[in-house]
Amino acid sequence: MSMLHVTASQTALFASDLHLSLDAPETAEQAMRLLWIQAASADHLFLLGDLFEMWVGDDGIDSLAQQFSTLLRQLSNAGTQVWMMRGNRDFLIDVPLPGKPGPGFTEQCGAQLLDDPCLIDLQGTPALLAHGDALCTDDEVYQTWRTTCRDPRWQQAMLSRSLDERIAIGRQARQNSEAGKREMAGALADVNQAAVDAMLDSAGADLLIHGHTHRPAHHHWTHEGRARQRVVLTDWDAKAHRGHLMGWASGKPVPMPKA
Ligand code: MN
Repeated sequence: MSMLHVTASQTALFASDLHLSLDAPETAEQAMRLLWIQAASADHLFLLGDLFEMWVGDDGIDSLAQQFSTLLRQLSNAGTQVWMMRGNRDFLIDVPLPGKPGPGFTEQCGAQLLDDPCLIDLQGTPALLAHGDALCTDDEVYQTWRTTCRDPRWQQAMLSRSLDERIAIGRQARQNSEAGKREMAGALADVNQAAVDAMLDSAGADLLIHGHTHRPAHHHWTHEGRARQRVVLTDWDAKAHRGHLMGWASGKPVPMPKA
């Protein structure tokens, strides 16, 4: 795939970690309202993972995922290019179900799946987009799980189970796994600085945009004489008044209004 270009005259919006779930209707309602108001006039919408709290396969679309898919399809039809990356919750998006070939979830949304990480040209600046979990290398327990759940053989074995079984396994994993417990306790690991620099070095970029850590910020530092930036997107939780889209203008992140 040739590099994705957001030209200087185009607008781009970024979001991640919406954690959409039927259990959090206020957050879903806020996200859909803001997307409809703000993203319909944007040229590009980048959704950088953990759009959904849990994703057990493209055949497990519930009423909320269906609503969200319809919204993204409407944005796409209105001319917004919608780009979707998998996160650590929704890593099974677009993974084909055994014996059931067919359009994946992103195609249903009129969206296109992005690799993690993915280098783009953001208004003339090389920018690396990532979910962010791969950079949390200090959390060895999580990194072991990440390797396992991204193994195609593990994924096919998982997807060959019944939908009910997968939902039960997903819920249990959240409650019982060490990574799940830490995440629920708000004790997610942060990124490792060496891992950040290594990822930027290998991409030839000095700007990284990611989510996952739930530590929204705009970091500046220098690495081997290169001025670098890391933009961390917010997670969404309407009850805690968190969640907004991020724009980009004149080489800087621009938080969009929350309402
Ligand atoms: Mn995440």
